[in-house]
Amino acid sequence: MTGQLNPQTIVFFENRLTALSEARVGILTHALNYGTGVFEGIRGYWNEPENQLFLLRPREHFLRWKQNCGILRIEVPPSAVELSEITAGVVRRNRYRCDVYVRPLAYKSSERIGLHMDDQSAFAIVAMPVSAYLDSSKGLHAGVSSWRRIEDNAIPGRGKICGSYVNGALASDEARRNGFDEAILLTEAGHVAEGASCNVFLVRHGKLIAPPASENILEGITRDSVMELARQELRLEVIERPVDRTELYICDEMFFTGTMVEVAPVIRVDHRPVGTGEIGPVTAELRHLYSQAAHGRLNAYRDWLMPVYESVPAQSRA
Ligand code: PMP
Repeated sequence: MTGQLNPQTIVFFENRLTALSEARVGILTHALNYGTGVFEGIRGYWNEPENQLFLLRPREHFLRWKQNCGILRIEVPPSAVELSEITAGVVRRNRYRCDVYVRPLAYKSSERIGLHMDDQSAFAIVAMPVSAYLDSSKGLHAGVSSWRRIEDNAIPGRGKICGSYVNGALASDEARRNGFDEAILLTEAGHVAEGASCNVFLVRHGKLIAPPASENILEGITRDSVMELARQELRLEVIERPVDRTELYICDEMFFTGTMVEVAPVIRVDHRPVGTGEIGPVTAELRHLYSQAAHGRLNAYRDWLMPVYESVPAQSRA
């Protein structure tokens, strides 16, 4: 997804811009030992004709981040708007003119042994060039995992809490070793929750179906964007309801959504074809619409985007 970053990359760390090589934490850091960090993932899309880099829904991501930090009693003082500005500054300082991935990370920073949480915390924002995460253009093969999705009462999955990603890492590792591209996790009750790092949608009888927020999912921002596109542009009915495992086997279409995977078609699940076994028409349309909106090519969704560079009128560009 992203390669090794140059140590001279400029990052935001301890309230200032500094080189990545200077952004270090100690071995006893609470979050490193106990998983008490909260992260985010935001995309920026390069638009060549406009000579512009657009951050996609940064305010929504930073609002989610700040709310999730509250679950661990971590305070991130800047507002979501200020955090978006800081991020734009990081991108500008690195002079990125390509698609980027932004990783904000807030964490319990005290360096001591002991589980109890105090108020000491810190945060960082790193931006990096990104290439395709999973090549999903031909459709993915997903497998239902033997690992269950963590319960809200154990570790809140909606929290994007560092420690909770052990769940997805185990499922993703198992899936890849078993020859699948991505895992689908079920809840303890046996309902479909989501992919290891993405939300899941089904198409049945012309309707879009997604597990609801109460199924221990991460409340994905791409999920929200895709629901809006489906309703507004395709006039589709979108239904949030519990989904059984076997609905995966009989649905007409299936796809994943996520900041990294964008809209990724699933054409096989547990060695069974999804629908015709080809990328379905609803999936193809939503994939296209999402890409258009994310790159700033759909006027109705320009308010999802924050330009990073000053706009320069086309005629005055060299
Ligand atoms: N579920 C999990 C477990 C994830 O890590 C992600 C990626 N953030 C998603 C769903 C999709 O969320 P979003 O669309 O906000 O990236």
